[in-house]
Amino acid sequence: RGASMEKIISLCKRRGFVYQGSEIYGGLNGTWDYGPLGVELKRNIQEAWWKHMVGSHANIVGLDAAILMHPTVWKASGHVDNFSDPMVDCKACKQRFRADKIDTSALEQRICPSCNGALTEPRQFNLMFKTHLGPVADSEDNIVYLRPETAQGIFVNFKNVIDTTRQCVPFGIAQIGKAFRNEITTKNFIFRTAEFEQMEMQYFVKPGTDLAALEEWKEKRMHYYHQTLGILPENLRFHQHGKNELAHYAVDAYDIEYQYPFGWEELEGIHDRSDFDLKQHQEFSGKKIHYQDPITNEKYLPYVIETSAGLTRSVLITLMDAYEEEVLAVADDGSVSDQRVVMHFHPNIAPIMMGVFPLMKKEGLDLIAQELTAELREIFTVEYDASGAIGRRYRRMDEIGTPYCITVDHQTKEDNTVTLRFRDSMEQIRLHKDEIIPKIIQFNKA
Ligand code: ATP
Repeated sequence: RGASMEKIISLCKRRGFVYQGSEIYGGLNGTWDYGPLGVELKRNIQEAWWKHMVGSHANIVGLDAAILMHPTVWKASGHVDNFSDPMVDCKACKQRFRADKIDTSALEQRICPSCNGALTEPRQFNLMFKTHLGPVADSEDNIVYLRPETAQGIFVNFKNVIDTTRQCVPFGIAQIGKAFRNEITTKNFIFRTAEFEQMEMQYFVKPGTDLAALEEWKEKRMHYYHQTLGILPENLRFHQHGKNELAHYAVDAYDIEYQYPFGWEELEGIHDRSDFDLKQHQEFSGKKIHYQDPITNEKYLPYVIETSAGLTRSVLITLMDAYEEEVLAVADDGSVSDQRVVMHFHPNIAPIMMGVFPLMKKEGLDLIAQELTAELREIFTVEYDASGAIGRRYRRMDEIGTPYCITVDHQTKEDNTVTLRFRDSMEQIRLHKDEIIPKIIQFNKA
């Protein structure tokens, strides 16, 4: 299992998962478009996350805040002053690098890692995209930012949520949405892009109980990647932030890292942010946004445990983790005589749940298969395919990670049974067509 970036990019393009943004105009750096299969995969991950967070916790509620927010939000949060990365340029080849991501000795000696030319001094570059609200673009007063994270929408609505729900600390607010960062370098496909999506949850706890909550969320989030998304455990690990990495307000912080083809890098941050954000918004807005304990009447600003996952980055890891070039047969001389590309997506996230095929287009088999497709479509995403050899149709489904294929054949006309083929084992069983829905539900739960 696992693949190089080139193989994933090529599969994504060939089968319609992800296309280059504005491709017919030569593309736009750091932007990607999700095709018919990519959008299904992304929506399934999003729904699995929402179910895991909001659906299965009585004390987590959802929110969908505006992307554009009052500019003071970003002053209060520290983004206007501090949300920057150090940047260096090569005077020879003109490439631009994030100074903290290149080799330290190359940086110290100011040598370009790409062409050995001379590098400029590092300078700070703010990652927020700026625009103007209203028709006049030359005024400093109407500057707005495209949000670089969804979290601040949650903090500024903290008081609204406690005033309008019955939630008591500890409770969480969850949100999924777009975020934008003018990254110095956008590379590695959809790993780091200018426009991306985040799935964040801020969990408000009583100060002093924060470290226990951090442990609880670390465990729950890792479990979600293993059990809900089906990611191989050996490709995931925790990385605790060292003293140099830790934000000045953070008590403790961990990243869940994934083993990408280019090394271990972040997938999700699980951070104890103290009461920093609420305190800042209380100060900058001048509004009291503290919490009052309904039993003890004690007033305080809760601490926040944040789980901040990349949705588009999750799409990348599910693609990479699922990929396998499986050898099916070896010739006498040892060479591979048959192989398939198979995506082992967990059924929770597979873009297409099943393929339905008539063995041939004739003798009414196609009509039976079409009727069956319409019935199954009420519950699952189903692709009907009637053309080509049956073996090739199975392989097409394997390559996009469809867990089940149903074939209607001559026997179906006699006894209403069909074959059900499993993607991973390639085994087939025969069952009555009325059994398909309950059986698939049962298999997916197992
Ligand atoms: P990095 O150090 O890689 O720049 P970060 O620490 O700035 O990442 P966070 O601010 O913690 O990232 O963002 C939370 C999550 O949002 C990340 O774990 C990642 O999944 C996702 N994310 C952040 N920036 C991007 C981006 N430019 N493109 C895609 N996903 C991103």
